[in-house]
Amino acid sequence: MRKAIIAGNWKMNMTPEQAKTLVRELIPLVKDAQCDVVICPPFVDLAVVQPLVEGTNIRLGAQNVHWAQKGAFTGEISADMLKELGVMYAIIGHSERRQYFGETDENVNKRTVAALAAGITPIVCVGETLEQREAGVTGEIVRSQTLALFKGIDASDAARVVVAYEPIWAIGTGKTATKEDANDTIAVIRSVIEGIYGKETAEKVRIQYGGSMNPKNASELMSMPQIDGGLIGGASLKAEDFAQVVHY
Ligand code: PEP
Repeated sequence: MRKAIIAGNWKMNMTPEQAKTLVRELIPLVKDAQCDVVICPPFVDLAVVQPLVEGTNIRLGAQNVHWAQKGAFTGEISADMLKELGVMYAIIGHSERRQYFGETDENVNKRTVAALAAGITPIVCVGETLEQREAGVTGEIVRSQTLALFKGIDASDAARVVVAYEPIWAIGTGKTATKEDANDTIAVIRSVIEGIYGKETAEKVRIQYGGSMNPKNASELMSMPQIDGGLIGGASLKAEDFAQVVHY
């Protein structure tokens, strides 16, 4: 059985002071969660949030990680830096990173490899645009993104990867994939993983849905057998809403 994982992607929201307030509100609301609970604040909030979540069931995630250990990569953050701050997860290849910051399947793979090597659990995002969905190529898109992200990763490491299926047209739009569509596409992703590593590993990999998941639709989406959790944007910025998703 795969343990569900609900992760909040705060994106570029919350100053350090605002982050402290949100986390203080959230801690009592999610303390009895049955699933893994992860929050991914902006980098500058991590150090102030870490002491607050220590000893709680909330785990800390970052919104990206660089593939090099250190060096001349202005503006980037390494896995070792994150580790030292108690970060256990990192979102990689979010569609906003791919769309606005030129991230490619190749560097998404390099970031994933680096996170795994440092003992950070990567939450790697894949998903199709609206045009691709309408052109009927969703399966091909997620297939090639999934193949690319696992390149060079062995089976024991692969089982630690969390994949987030995020149809780009559903992110921040209020539009959600139907539970059947989300489930079917996640099944495609799992079949690709099975093709690389075999059934045992594929059954271990947790695959989230992301895209306007909220307190109203979380339980319906989470009732589907292939959906192992959620990557939550907008609804992670309000403690009550995020807690309701966590308690889907
Ligand atoms: C996201 O950014 O990963 C996301 C799913 O956002 P939202 O929940 O706001 O659609």
